[in-house]
Amino acid sequence: MVQHLHVTYNDIHRLISQRMPQVAKEFPPDILLAIGGGGFFPARVMRTFLREQTANKTLQIQAIGLSLYEPVEGTSAEQIGQEVVRTQWLGTDAGKQLLGKRVLIVDEVDDTRKTLHYAVSELQKDIEAELANHPESERDALRKATQFGIFVVHNKLKPKLAELPAGTPYFSGADLGDLWLDYPWEAIDIEAHNSQANAEAKS
Ligand code: 5GP
Repeated sequence: MVQHLHVTYNDIHRLISQRMPQVAKEFPPDILLAIGGGGFFPARVMRTFLREQTANKTLQIQAIGLSLYEPVEGTSAEQIGQEVVRTQWLGTDAGKQLLGKRVLIVDEVDDTRKTLHYAVSELQKDIEAELANHPESERDALRKATQFGIFVVHNKLKPKLAELPAGTPYFSGADLGDLWLDYPWEAIDIEAHNSQANAEAKS
């Protein structure tokens, strides 16, 4: 059976507060791009710290929605968990919004890495599409100025099924083994969730 770890809101806040000085120094973002739904709460907490710790006092959060393929009738076992689907994306001017910016992509957990890989490669396509609207002489500089970084609250140390472009700035709140993390926003009874988290911390 997969071991579970219950994570509290305070745990997440604390992990973010510990990592943000490094993010502020090494990759001060122009935009936070939350992957919903798990990236929403972390991104909002990060905004508080990054507005304080960087020159960007008006740092904003954008959102995209991605989920790993939900099994539907007739889906083969191999297909399940192989595909990432978009449930929400930036507007038709996605490339325009991001071009020339340092974009920090935020999610709660990096498991197989498929979601992060999908996000970066699709956003890069939006950038390339936008670059076509610019004179060729400007494209290289604009492409170079557009950077994607990653922040996840938890990174599972396990073989990843997809890769990020070499050199992508990558930050995690904590690195763990291959556990199943129970996040507080999934709990119906938050007190029971917190009690379980406390019990696990003591054991
Ligand atoms: P990926 O395998 O693409 O890195 O992760 C995809 C998504 O699976 C995550 O964004 C998250 O929604 C979900 N996921 C992966 N591992 C866990 C986990 O340990 N706990 C929870 N609650 N969700 C997870």
